[in-house]
Amino acid sequence: MILQPPHSSTPNPAESDQIISQRPDKPEEACGVFGIYAPDEDVAKLTYFGLFALQHRGQESAGIATFEGEQVRLYKNMGLVSQVFNEDILNQMPGTIAVGHTRYSTTGSSRVVNAQPAVVNTRLGSLALAHNGNLVNASELRTHLENRNYNEFLTTTDSEMIAIAIGAEVDQGKDWLEAAISAFNLCEGAYSLVIGTPEGVMGVRDPHGVRPLVIGTLGTNPMRYVLASETCGLDIIGAEYLRDVEPGELVWITEAGMASFHWSQKPQRKLCIFEMIYFARPDSVMQDESIYSYRLRLGRQLAKEAATDADIVIAVPDSGVPAAIGFSQESGIPYAEGLIKNRYVGRTFIQPTQSMRESGIRMKLNPLKDVLAGKRVIIVDDSIVRGTTSRKIVKALRDAGATEVHMRVSAPPVTHPCFYGIDTDSQDQLIAATKSVEEIAEQIGVDSLAYVSWDGMMLATQDNANTFCSACFTGDYPIPVPERLKRSKLMLEEAKV
Ligand code: SF4
Repeated sequence: MILQPPHSSTPNPAESDQIISQRPDKPEEACGVFGIYAPDEDVAKLTYFGLFALQHRGQESAGIATFEGEQVRLYKNMGLVSQVFNEDILNQMPGTIAVGHTRYSTTGSSRVVNAQPAVVNTRLGSLALAHNGNLVNASELRTHLENRNYNEFLTTTDSEMIAIAIGAEVDQGKDWLEAAISAFNLCEGAYSLVIGTPEGVMGVRDPHGVRPLVIGTLGTNPMRYVLASETCGLDIIGAEYLRDVEPGELVWITEAGMASFHWSQKPQRKLCIFEMIYFARPDSVMQDESIYSYRLRLGRQLAKEAATDADIVIAVPDSGVPAAIGFSQESGIPYAEGLIKNRYVGRTFIQPTQSMRESGIRMKLNPLKDVLAGKRVIIVDDSIVRGTTSRKIVKALRDAGATEVHMRVSAPPVTHPCFYGIDTDSQDQLIAATKSVEEIAEQIGVDSLAYVSWDGMMLATQDNANTFCSACFTGDYPIPVPERLKRSKLMLEEAKV
């Protein structure tokens, strides 16, 4: 059963230039996924809260599918999790299994039909799939499916193709596990998946483990299992973190408990380093410590590499805060709050007025004049992608009376686009792909600009640099990207690809 969302007049961002021009000057995360098997719990409500904690990973649409035996119920719509769902809707979604998704579109336009979970009917009943990541061979997979007479695509997403590929294998006579593993062997790229079926729920990571996925437990007798993109999705419902799903692993959670299958011949961990720098919530745990601790170390490293004389260190809130505190600790320059963020601004489809637009960024960030006036300021940000927001922030700091503005960035220059589920624009939109550090400093209007080095970023992980993807800083893509796809985004390197 598909519960119909009410008619929505939400405009399609892809259809509006003004909305596109409001895109934040940051890479955009693909998605958050959540799954639960808990016959004695209100699985829809627990999934709602899990998605609520994962909201930072995607704000365009949200959806939940529940399974009550063979009966699947799906509800999805455009908007934030709290806008899409209410008690009434969740009360109409009983079940023992639930899968949830919150989305930022990286493939397929931003339309409700493309919201997830993607539900596909098979010989063994329905499956509901929630995907974080991006396939690099989506068009080849589509051709493969069309050649097998699977032509009825409801959406323009690669996620639906994975669901259809699993369904096609089930229809060949395979059971859920065999079908899923056969389908994953057709997929190339980044995918952390949560898949609900009438029998159980699966958690899967691609052989490189580019996107995170963790397992939690809920209660002890009986023990129930939860899957989430980040540990903050477990914390909110009181689940205990058990472990990560490993690269190339499938966990199958049923009434019998949790079973693990290492389905890939050559798993090779390449976790997205940007998850640690910017995307993941600071209170989430990766690599056995909070992301906050890593970002603090990054800030310390940045200070070791690029300290300068100044009166205060401030952050671009919120994501720059831990690195700014680390920078302050290492340099001995006091940390202060110089910019206050409107935490409720979210994503708005209402256009600001012309005069608001001219006043720059203040809808989101407001400078504290009495903190900044007469001060030499170091401002720490986690990344610069296009540079448009940085310029506005620097101007606002100067307007508030800062005598010098030095920008320090806790990631290296972003020179290459991402093909693995993060929207970092095409290469010609990336300011560091076409300009030197000095030219960027001039463009954004700072007295000095420095980035943490690639080595410094890796040193701060306290882990083996080979276990991370850092292609957007190096162009060294760990999963081969087909030429056609490269040409769509790597326009400055066409000669080389
Ligand atoms: S290219 Fe960059 S954003 Fe994309 S997965 Fe690799 S590190 Fe992450």
